[in-house]
Amino acid sequence: MTDISDLKGIGPVKVKGLNSLGIFTVKHLLEYYPRTYADRSIISDISSLSISDSVSLKGIIFNITHKKNRYGKRLYITTASLKDETGQIDITWYNQSYLQNILFENKIIYVYGKIERRGFFFHMTNPSFSYKKDDFLIILPIYAKNAGTTQKDIRIGVRSALSSYAFDEKDIFSDDLRQKYDLCTKDFAIRNIHYPNSNDAFFTARRRLVFEELFLLQMSLFSIRSKIRSVKTAIHMYKSDLMNKFIDSLPYKLTDAQNKVINEINEDMKKDIPMNRLLQGDVGSGKTVVAMAAMVSAFENSYQSAFMAPTEILANQHYINMSRFFEKFGIRIGYLTGKIKGKNRERLIQEISAGNIDIIIGTHALIEDDVVFKNLGLCITDEQHRFGVAQRKLLSSKGDLPHVLVMSATPIPRTLALILYGDLDVSVLDEMPPDRKKIKTFCVDESYRTRITEFIRKTASQGEQVYVVCPSIIENDDLDITNVQDKYNELVSQLPELKIDMLHGKMKNADKIDIMESFACKNTQVLVSTSIIEVGINVADATVMIIEDAQQFGLSQIHQLRGRVGRSDKQSYCVLFNQSSSDISKQRMKVLTESNDGFKIAEQDLILRGPGEFFGSKQHGIPELKISNLYTDIPILKSAQKATYEEIEKGNYYTEYITSGIDNLMSATL
Ligand code: ADP
Ligand code: MG
Repeated sequence: MTDISDLKGIGPVKVKGLNSLGIFTVKHLLEYYPRTYADRSIISDISSLSISDSVSLKGIIFNITHKKNRYGKRLYITTASLKDETGQIDITWYNQSYLQNILFENKIIYVYGKIERRGFFFHMTNPSFSYKKDDFLIILPIYAKNAGTTQKDIRIGVRSALSSYAFDEKDIFSDDLRQKYDLCTKDFAIRNIHYPNSNDAFFTARRRLVFEELFLLQMSLFSIRSKIRSVKTAIHMYKSDLMNKFIDSLPYKLTDAQNKVINEINEDMKKDIPMNRLLQGDVGSGKTVVAMAAMVSAFENSYQSAFMAPTEILANQHYINMSRFFEKFGIRIGYLTGKIKGKNRERLIQEISAGNIDIIIGTHALIEDDVVFKNLGLCITDEQHRFGVAQRKLLSSKGDLPHVLVMSATPIPRTLALILYGDLDVSVLDEMPPDRKKIKTFCVDESYRTRITEFIRKTASQGEQVYVVCPSIIENDDLDITNVQDKYNELVSQLPELKIDMLHGKMKNADKIDIMESFACKNTQVLVSTSIIEVGINVADATVMIIEDAQQFGLSQIHQLRGRVGRSDKQSYCVLFNQSSSDISKQRMKVLTESNDGFKIAEQDLILRGPGEFFGSKQHGIPELKISNLYTDIPILKSAQKATYEEIEKGNYYTEYITSGIDNLMSATL
């Protein structure tokens, strides 16, 4: 691969700058696509200007003055006027003293800049300019950069690379495929993504590059999938009598969806290929019991199971809940979190490695080096989006190719799930337990404050419980948002007859567990908390969720929080205090008051926030996409998927193009 130092015009300083952006080869440079563009290609008439647009103008420059200002900050000011056939505009440049050598009266020049208003007149500050139109009246790429390099250097590099390389011979797609899917050549795409000849050319170029990127991603996933399918495990689970007994022992009847998923899991675990299954289900759809059935099955087939949850509170709750059900089947259950230390920890770890514990429930503490299993057959991760890919992999590496089930309540539109979890088989719990009533959700403002306080009092008097969630822990001078500490004090003084507690992430783990337990066994009636209770918490008598400063939270997050109530046959309520009067905020709240469907809400969230924020950091394990946008490019994704299948059918696997990055993907998905 050609090094950028071989490019004309790129000396050691520029090389170093580009290196700091991760650009080492010409290929890197050409795939360093612009972040955005400045369209200088169209000349505007001065008479038709409006404020805040950036525009190109062509005109005669006159009245040029140069001034030095010695007071305060050293300033060098250049002023001039520009006129075309339709009008005239003033221009100011600051601290560009070299202009005195290159700006000449009464010459025709081109300028590009933002239009401002000064008094009655339009004005431009620090526009770029040129006497020649050829390199100026173009759509100019703007790259993401850091302090180590400049826009200009990146552009020089790209220009140089574009002039010395031809790409036709490197096009990975055949003429036939390109024709069928209406794709331009790679050569055209690369040239026009950097320096588009027109708007149309840009869209054509982008479409081709997005298609290629998503096509290769699909191909990589296919290749990984076939590799996974070829790995054999010695762990098979044929027996299911005890599991059926467990299901019969439950106080409720499983939904059809739960039965279907349990079957899918059982079929997977019978095979000699390790299960790799994602279980998606909206909050409250009953994922836990599905996981439990799978663990009972592992137990009766003489394997250990590990169940990992993202928070101490949640792990503890699962432990207490599952112990209740499992003990009568003679299943020995253990609980390991960071809180358990010293002798207790040693003993527990020893029991796990000796095989005296059948099911171990815990947090990240489960993946520590010294936790060794005797015969781990099944790994389950709850709320998997809270874990990094590496952590999931570490857990399964503690067994000899165990079966893996990951569970998530963050609903992801189906097509996206296919890319993100392409290697995982996906099961969906698309049905709620039958006794559930729709959670009544209201969006209110401060005028409802007293009424809501009375509502808390009334709820508690009926033996039900209330969560009050605040966006911050303590008072923050910069932001005027409700905090747990103040809210707690306020409620204690307003509702002296109630038992109120507070909970947040800065507390000691042991305290958190105590407070949660006390709420779960109804010693406390009101829990003032941060969003720490967002994942998994299950307290059946909690029926009211009040969210303060709801505008601060993401829609899916509110939906998760709301999922903490409505966990029994009692009518539940969610009250959203929205302190923002913006339209967007109102629109967002409306999505929540009108829908209880996590999939729909996630989709709206995705539209309103964009995928970057929606998916959080790099937790999803998908390699960084250079150009595609997983939400807006779904139509292209669909045709790229179709093309992938057709090529595989023909025996074309594009192996030479997918090798790079595949290790990354491998580790992301296994
Ligand atoms: P999530 O999918 O959000 O993890 P949980 O597994 O915590 O949901 O289940 C929520 C509640 O629903 C629990 O109290 C659980 O006991 C109960 N539940 C699960 N399945 C059923 C069912 N088929 N019928 C009635 N209640 C159920
Ligand atoms: Mg759960």
